[in-house]
Amino acid sequence: MKIPFVHAAPHHLRWPLRFLLPAVLVLLFVAVLIWLPWQAREMESNERQEQLIADTLWVEQAVRFELSRSEDALASLGNELAAQPPADKLQARFAQLLNNGHELRAVRWLDAQAGTLAERGADVAAGALSATSRNAWELARDTRKARYSDAYAAASGRASLVDYHLPLYRNGRFAGTLTATYDLKLLLDETVPWWFAQDNAISLVDRDDRNLATRAAAGPGRGVYTHKRALDLPGATMFLATDSVKGPPRLLPNLLVGSVIALALGLLASLAALWRHIARRLAAEGALRQQMAFRTAMENSLVTGLRARDLEGRVTYVNPAFCQIVGLPPEELVGKAPPMAYWAPEAMADYQQRFASVLAGNVTPQFETIFQRSDGVRVPVLIFEAPLVDSEGRQTGWMGSILDISDRKNAEELARQQQEKLHASARLATMGEISSMLAHELNQPLAAISSYTTGALNMLGRSSDTGAALDPAVLKPALEQASVQARRAGQIIRSVHEFVKKREPERQPVDIAALVEGIRTLIELQANKHFVAIQTAIPADLPAVSADRMMLEQVLLNLTRNAIEAMQDIVPERRVLRIVAAHEAGQVMVSVIDQGHGIAPEVAERLFSPFFSTKAEGMGMGLSICRTAIEFHGGTLTHADNPGGGTIFRFSLPSQA
Ligand code: ADP
Repeated sequence: MKIPFVHAAPHHLRWPLRFLLPAVLVLLFVAVLIWLPWQAREMESNERQEQLIADTLWVEQAVRFELSRSEDALASLGNELAAQPPADKLQARFAQLLNNGHELRAVRWLDAQAGTLAERGADVAAGALSATSRNAWELARDTRKARYSDAYAAASGRASLVDYHLPLYRNGRFAGTLTATYDLKLLLDETVPWWFAQDNAISLVDRDDRNLATRAAAGPGRGVYTHKRALDLPGATMFLATDSVKGPPRLLPNLLVGSVIALALGLLASLAALWRHIARRLAAEGALRQQMAFRTAMENSLVTGLRARDLEGRVTYVNPAFCQIVGLPPEELVGKAPPMAYWAPEAMADYQQRFASVLAGNVTPQFETIFQRSDGVRVPVLIFEAPLVDSEGRQTGWMGSILDISDRKNAEELARQQQEKLHASARLATMGEISSMLAHELNQPLAAISSYTTGALNMLGRSSDTGAALDPAVLKPALEQASVQARRAGQIIRSVHEFVKKREPERQPVDIAALVEGIRTLIELQANKHFVAIQTAIPADLPAVSADRMMLEQVLLNLTRNAIEAMQDIVPERRVLRIVAAHEAGQVMVSVIDQGHGIAPEVAERLFSPFFSTKAEGMGMGLSICRTAIEFHGGTLTHADNPGGGTIFRFSLPSQA
């Protein structure tokens, strides 16, 4: 399976770029966030200022309109006074004037020397003009133009007053003035609408910013939004100053600003959460990538083949070691369903059967089989299979690990061949000893034969010399004895010949009694040499065992030879070798019992090791070969101390019955 890897280097290169853009955007966003409320506040403040200016303008217009209305009324009365003074109705006209304009405190008719001809109103300072007003009066007289005086304090001292002097002419000559006195406070009260006074403190100030009159229905202004404009009155310099009672716009109660800030904070919080999430994801991804790299390296370094299959038996994954075992690239394996390209034709039935049981959900956890490599070579493999379970505990298929056991098989074969060679050479070694004993033992029968035949010949020679007839009955016993000895010698030689023949092991039913009988002559050869008596106890109904006869003979010969040798230094009356057989729980047990020197514990430990011997001329192979031979037949070889002194060697083999 190819695992797509993102290359590490470009990934790191993109890192700053990837984070620069969002960082810049967030900074921009924060900047806009700070700027937006400030801008909103600024706009609101500008709007208020503009509103104030517009309102102030409106108030100025109102004041000017009121004054010009009043000027018009005075002008029409002035015209009348210049023509013929309406002495009788004068006070009534004055009263009407004062009534129409509440801002008017007094109206006076002055002569050419500013002496009072008629007057009506309050706070008129005993007919005399104030110094400021007198100035204006003279200027009006000289310029022949109606004009206002500068503001001056009323005699009561509480109000600021302004006089309006309208020069009168009779027949072209100056004939005094019609002078109206305005109370500036009343003027403001009359002309400034209540709603404007509610929001603003409005004052009239002189050129030195001295306050002349103020109307402030809702307390003094806050000095934040102010406006000042000249009240353009002929002769007088006065300014209309407005000061809003409103403070600067406050930031937080502003709904727009509030919602923008709330939204922005929410956005920033979610951005931070997103950022954290991304960081966690990236970290997890990094860890995963590292784990994948680790896993891939591990899989690639394995010498064990790995193969995953889904529940339908389709191959979903193979590692490089598996590809090497079967000699096929992953593309030819992954996605393929059985029969697989690496199944050997001769084992097809075996695979099919195993595959059917895998599909049925029963998998053999461990088994040996052979694979056919792409070049046709058969590869012995050991397969372990286990269920493949996903993160939710569901089985998704099977994972198999495959071991190439060619080397092990080769080693096993080599060991087997060596073992066989060892058997042969051990047999020859035993033969070497036996043949020397044979020579010695054959001497006896041969010597006997020789002496019987020599005797017979002598008898024949004597009869021919004497010419007496020879009775054949005299020769018969000697020839019979010679024949018996010759047969015995032949039997010894035959059994030795049988023993040394190198053969492949072949199993056949072996009867233990017959087996012992077959080698009895050989055993006796040794036993006689050391004056050992042989006793056998083999039940007649003992079942046969399935074995290689030659091997069992060799085992018995070795065991008996050891037993005899163990007794060679024992008092002669105790030199008894017993061969006992029994049948128990499906096993045939054969014991070779001696009364020899027994086995010391340190010897017992190494008894079955090859080439271990306590004898001067021993090869140390006997017991090792015996155990191998018995285990080859599915049996066991053990030894125990003989309670009566000496040792018991016992082998057991599965019985045929
Ligand atoms: P070898 O007979 O050539 O020494 P074996 O493998 O047959 O080799 O025996 C190994 C050793 O086990 C012997 O040297 C001997 O010390 C001991 N042994 C074997 N059989 C007996 C027995 N019946 N009694 C005592 N010792 C024994």
